[in-house]
Amino acid sequence: MTDTTESDTQHTAWCDPAECATAPPGWHQSTSRSVTGHDPEGIHPGATVHAVQLGTGDDSHPYIDMTIHTEPGDGTDTEDQAYTVLLIPERALTLGHLLTTAARAAMRQQAG
Ligand SMILES: [Zn+2]
Repeated sequence: MTDTTESDTQHTAWCDPAECATAPPGWHQSTSRSVTGHDPEGIHPGATVHAVQLGTGDDSHPYIDMTIHTEPGDGTDTEDQAYTVLLIPERALTLGHLLTTAARAAMRQQAG
């Protein structure tokens, strides 16, 4: 009989044991990081990001889980919404670069 205690689990280097414990069996999950902050109008979406690994052994794949959280902004929306996408790590890096480049350009123009 196979013993499947926690000590047998091979976690990824980035795995957060507390978060991993809430993931489905066989999955791994990193610490969640969120973009929130000053939003007096209550209309700017937030985002939560964490890494996950789905599957086991040679059939496992890492993804970046990004969830966008929106809030009612103009009176027509009545509920908060959450939209989740799973990105392969390479695509997440490219998206991060695009966001950084666009934000820097917009902030430069705003300052000038
Ligand atoms: Zn884990």
